Amino acid sequence: MGVPLARPADRALARPYRRRLAAAASLITLIAVGAAVLATLRPPAPVPADAPADEFSAARAYREAQVVAAGTHVAGSPANDEVRRHIEETLRGLGLETSVQDTIGPEAGQLSGGAGGAALARVRNVVARLPGTDPTGRVFLVAHYDSVQVGPGGNDDAAGTSAILEVARALTAGPRPRNDVIFVLTDAEEACLCGAAAFASSHPLATDGGVVLNLEARGSTGPVIMFETSERNADLVAAFGRAAPHPVGTSFAVEVYRLLPNDTDFTAFLDEGFVGLNSAYIDGGAIYHTPLDTVDRMDRRSLQQHGANALALAREFGAADLTDLGAPGDATYFPVPGGLVRYPGWLTWPLALLAVVGVAALAWAARRAGRTSWPRLAAGFGLALLPVVLAPLVAQLFWWAVTAIRPGYAELLDPYRPVWYRLTVVASAVAVFFGWYALLRRRTGPAALAVGGLAWLAILGVVLAAVAPGGSYLTALPALAGALAGLVALRLPVDGPGPVLAVTAAGVVAVVILLPTVVLLFPALSMAMGGVAAFFSVLLGLATLPVVDLLHPQAGGQRAMDALRARRRGAVPTFAAALAAVVLAGVGLTVDRFDADHPVPTHLMYALDADTGQARWLSHEADPQPWTAGYVDTEASVGGEFPALGDEPLRTGPAAAAPLPPPRVEKIADTAANGLRTLRLRLVPERPVRLAALHVETGNGAVTVERATVAGRPVSDPVTDPAQRWGFGIVFHAPPAEGVEIELVLRGAPGQVRVRAMDASDGLTGLPGFRPRPAGVGIAGSHSSEMVAVARTYPV
Ligand SMILES: [Zn+2]
Repeated sequence: MGVPLARPADRALARPYRRRLAAAASLITLIAVGAAVLATLRPPAPVPADAPADEFSAARAYREAQVVAAGTHVAGSPANDEVRRHIEETLRGLGLETSVQDTIGPEAGQLSGGAGGAALARVRNVVARLPGTDPTGRVFLVAHYDSVQVGPGGNDDAAGTSAILEVARALTAGPRPRNDVIFVLTDAEEACLCGAAAFASSHPLATDGGVVLNLEARGSTGPVIMFETSERNADLVAAFGRAAPHPVGTSFAVEVYRLLPNDTDFTAFLDEGFVGLNSAYIDGGAIYHTPLDTVDRMDRRSLQQHGANALALAREFGAADLTDLGAPGDATYFPVPGGLVRYPGWLTWPLALLAVVGVAALAWAARRAGRTSWPRLAAGFGLALLPVVLAPLVAQLFWWAVTAIRPGYAELLDPYRPVWYRLTVVASAVAVFFGWYALLRRRTGPAALAVGGLAWLAILGVVLAAVAPGGSYLTALPALAGALAGLVALRLPVDGPGPVLAVTAAGVVAVVILLPTVVLLFPALSMAMGGVAAFFSVLLGLATLPVVDLLHPQAGGQRAMDALRARRRGAVPTFAAALAAVVLAGVGLTVDRFDADHPVPTHLMYALDADTGQARWLSHEADPQPWTAGYVDTEASVGGEFPALGDEPLRTGPAAAAPLPPPRVEKIADTAANGLRTLRLRLVPERPVRLAALHVETGNGAVTVERATVAGRPVSDPVTDPAQRWGFGIVFHAPPAEGVEIELVLRGAPGQVRVRAMDASDGLTGLPGFRPRPAGVGIAGSHSSEMVAVARTYPV
């Protein structure tokens, strides 16, 4: 193939000096806008303790967090009673009507019965009311005060709890709001969202619903992201954009969150028809649910953002007419420097289709202007897919290699110092992208590749409009901006500054929209899904391709020697980015080593079968760490002996039996009528435990549980799993010492039926054969870490 002759139109910026100047100006603009975007995502400075009384001060809230997270305080523990008393006293001290809702909570979003079992808990929610002057409804500020079983919950959720105490203080210091404001500090969120479910479904103040602001933390730092809303959120999002001083939120997060296996108290409120907003900071996820989630690891800037937003929103909704929150649709929204852009959801499809039309028009106009041809456009379209596929692949391979070198990452939500690995992913995406462009630019032509890239963005915008409408803006708007810029550039004099200005403007749109996405996706999805961030990095590259092109010498028209030199120059950014990726990966592996302060997480639990007297160690680790391997050596499912632990295969190894009493099952009543047998049982733990479970032997469907009542509360939709030996189960968290009464109505069980009782406490210290972890070996952030389970079968 010969070097094509330059057409007159291709002489734009042909003089190298002007071309370099244009490239520099355009790039500096994009970098400046990128810096402004990153600054928007930075949480604000903490406000000191001597700030005016009606302001939110992270310094004041932090003191509350220190009390709340002084120690591990799992639901039902004496430590949790202490925390609750402190919250009660604090709210009462502010002059608020404060009470404790002491009840049995069902699991939120529950799937009753089955192998794991329907979860319930004894919960004690602290509820305080600030009566409004002329209420139109209620505003609920919600956070959970319980912690996980192995750590103090210094962020999760001492951040939300302390922020709400400080918001309550600031609200009572100012004029009273029009609407009731209810402060709800829930219990047993970690166990089953049971506190929130109990409040939302049965508290007198909850009967009319209202606006919920839920405050969470899934890490220790980073911007507070408003990541979940109720449906038909246009009015709520408008209020968020108007009132929140630091509004970081995107309608795309709502879509991403739906794909993640996470739930918060907010789910329980949504189930009961409440509306509202859910916010959390999520970076620094390595400590999540571990003993390292201590309050001194909390980034007080994140706390400031959490509380300042919550206070402003409480005031906003506190003053609003809450009967008038009925906007019909969802909004699309995303953060930009200086605020939040939002527009109604009905614009999603028109904008997505307009982007497609715009790119098609650009293709037609570019061909007509002699910049490209139909075959080249077709080639550009096909080839633009290469980096989109390749860069995520490289990112995933990179992480696969890193976890092969450092298997301890498998049990971590995110590395302790993830920034180097994130930069590696970005650098490798840049290398793939530049390499692709350097190889294909001359053969296919800049115009064809630019249009091809925009075409994929536009198509993706349509796909997202169909499957995840809140995310359509991510690609539709940059595609539309790119198409419009291209159409404008084609009409402007080629030797003037017009075309460069036009493509730079489109680049600004792409940076503003896609850069926050890349930055926020890393902590949201963690390194294990770094490919998604690489994917959006490449889309950002494609959307700014005409600017990237300015870095390369003018295409076409060079003599052979120049062409060779140009090709060499085109390879420079590729090699620079690839080198950067290698160096950054090396720095990551060097800097993020496991040590005493950043221990390798390990998962271990202990289970004693009181029928046989046999005990065993169990671990979730797929590839056990050396420390864990000292306890477990084989793989097995323990669902037969410990149905509450599920059927998943675990690592297991023999352990010495500890003198631990199993839970007791007492029969209170046993009646039969109409082919149904009603059993009333009492399940009594014989030691301090976090949970007690009861499973019924249903013999693969021979027996079914028609109805079940736990502590007087009916289990909704009890399900008997016909594929299981223990096909029906109940898991009760924070059981009282006197035990739990369970009533079962059984079909197909005329004679004796067997039940399996299990309870579980936390902490392996003191068990025979257990050696404390050495420095550098830590506890994995799992709800079953350090669990000590004891089970026994009873015929009834
Ligand atoms: Zn949690």
